[in-house]
Amino acid sequence: MITVNEYYKKLFGEKVYKISLAGGNTCPNRDGTKGVGGCIFCSERGSGDFVPDPCLPMETQIEQAIQKIKAKGAKKFIAYFQSFTATYLPADKLEEKLFSAAKREDIVGISVATRPDCLPKAVLDILEKYSKIKPLWVELGLQTAKDKTAVYVNRCYPTSVYTEAAKKLTERNIPFVTHIILGLPGETEEDMVNTVKTAVECKTQGIKLQLLQILKDSPLYGEYLEGKVKPMAEDEYYGLLKKLLSLLPPETVVHRLTGDGSKKTLAAPLWCGDKKRAINKINALLKEFS
Ligand code: SF4
Repeated sequence: MITVNEYYKKLFGEKVYKISLAGGNTCPNRDGTKGVGGCIFCSERGSGDFVPDPCLPMETQIEQAIQKIKAKGAKKFIAYFQSFTATYLPADKLEEKLFSAAKREDIVGISVATRPDCLPKAVLDILEKYSKIKPLWVELGLQTAKDKTAVYVNRCYPTSVYTEAAKKLTERNIPFVTHIILGLPGETEEDMVNTVKTAVECKTQGIKLQLLQILKDSPLYGEYLEGKVKPMAEDEYYGLLKKLLSLLPPETVVHRLTGDGSKKTLAAPLWCGDKKRAINKINALLKEFS
């Protein structure tokens, strides 16, 4: 495996910064098309807690996000369409958003977060077109390969939809990153190992392993208050991460090993709210693999 910073540096010759953007779309798991209420771990802002106001035009969102971090010496950026389901809008609207990013020289790559059941042909055509203009990654929210858990967390699609989407993206040479949540209710270590193995078998180019965070503005919070959900302990989490990282082929890009929910709404586990400690722990873990 290779860390995302190493990967970007190889690809772009310097550090690049991801800027989070809101496409103004919702999600089929919230508007009743696939489900209502969303996945039980998802926050009110559709897992995009740090995105700008979605009412702002895309050009403005991009400019403001870049200006915010330019002072740090940032010169190259990846436009990250993060919140809700970024491809859940008509293909021409999606193209408008991607074009706003791709036309800028300082945007060197594009990342699009979505569900695997929101990749119809017209959307795949647009993604393929833009992947030939700038490096582009699709981020697929799998969370778990165990269908029983998927039903429990209200994901509203079976894992076969992910494997099918992975196949279609691979056929079109569109790299994808798989998002997995560790510590979902009722999951064993074996289940999580199987989820990572499924993503690897499906040829995921990158992986995000994220601790289950119980956020106060998510449906999971109610279950937590009723004692139905037990958050992972710190040692247990890092022990598991070590095992899962050892399953990854050398070329797999590791994008994230923590949660990224807002500290303001974090109910549990509170140990993950100490970002500095988490970064130190992760760096120590990654050293073991370098
Ligand atoms: S995690 Fe993604 S698919 Fe699930 S409710 Fe949130 S935005 Fe929708």
